[in-house]
Amino acid sequence: MKVTEHIKQAKGKTLFSFELIPPQKGRNIKELYNNIDPLMEFKPPFIDVTTSREEFIYIDRDGLLDKKLTRMRPGTVGICASIKHKYNVDAIPHVLCGGFTKEETEYLLVDCHYLGIDNVMALRGDAMKEEKYFTPSEGGHKYANELVKQIVDMNQGKFLHEVIESDNNSNFCIGVAGYPEKHLEAPSLDADIRRLKDKVDAGADYIVTQMFFDNQRYFDFVDRARKAGIEVPIIPGIKPVAVKRHLQLLPQVFRLDIPDELVKAVEGCKNNAQVREVGVEFAVQQSKELMKRGVPVLHYYSMGKSDNIKKIAAQVF
Ligand code: FAD
Repeated sequence: MKVTEHIKQAKGKTLFSFELIPPQKGRNIKELYNNIDPLMEFKPPFIDVTTSREEFIYIDRDGLLDKKLTRMRPGTVGICASIKHKYNVDAIPHVLCGGFTKEETEYLLVDCHYLGIDNVMALRGDAMKEEKYFTPSEGGHKYANELVKQIVDMNQGKFLHEVIESDNNSNFCIGVAGYPEKHLEAPSLDADIRRLKDKVDAGADYIVTQMFFDNQRYFDFVDRARKAGIEVPIIPGIKPVAVKRHLQLLPQVFRLDIPDELVKAVEGCKNNAQVREVGVEFAVQQSKELMKRGVPVLHYYSMGKSDNIKKIAAQVF
């Protein structure tokens, strides 16, 4: 079922959902299930599965390093199919511009359609670790709005090559990313919101936000988006702080602010077990306030570990 239908059916009740990262190739998928199992009692109507950019690895061949390009965490669509089958919930693959040609994206969408996947999250992807700026693949999309258009075209039976006739169109519900503290490359929040509007105008059905730690940033963002004419649901993304290093890492990677109250609480922790507790407590307060304001879904970034998400959900849902 589509995310937008889940929201409609909930009639104002806030839903619980979360995001998973595929395991590194070679690792057992049971690890992933072990992290999903404890969260099923909170009845997520959908679970997101991320897609990783490809990266360079270096293989030692008799002292000479061989540079190879590979994807260390493949399997997004397969994992979505297995989650759907095992848990009977909707699983949402993240589809990226980066690292894919339009042709490869079309194949991936065809797989999703055959597997009965009803939702996809359309994203540009970040620059590769070695790159300063995002570089689109040759024959790939440059921005997420172009990817949204390709998905919408396919929903209308329009494939990349006109020779194809479709008698069984897909009908994907399309999610896109939004940034309450603006995307790191955007010149201003208003400019970024105009780009977000381009994605919605291209056919996006809902928005999931980047993590934020100050709810006011989310409320302001929603107000500005509404004023800009964006009417689709805006789902807040929540990440509990889990290690001390997050104080530097999260602002550096995502260009977001962490409120001083949380910074001081984390700085006062003796070890990361204590930081995890502080992160849970903060996310519970954040979630409760968002819920009170009637957000459609609380979407948690689990980073593959569910113990803290379970503690939060147990106090919020
Ligand atoms: P876009 O919407 O294309 O925007 C990228 C930048 O370009 C923005 O600064 C925007 O303002 C600007 N822009 C947009 N259109 C134009 C235009 N026409 N001209 C000029 N500028 C323009 N990354 C992954 O690799 N895998 C994942 O699974 C993944 N999941 C995510 C899930 C969520 C909920 C979020 C919030 C992010 C996720 N990301 C993921 C990260 C995301 O890929 C990066 O933040 C990426 O840098 C931007 O993606 P986007 O889809 O927002 O890009």
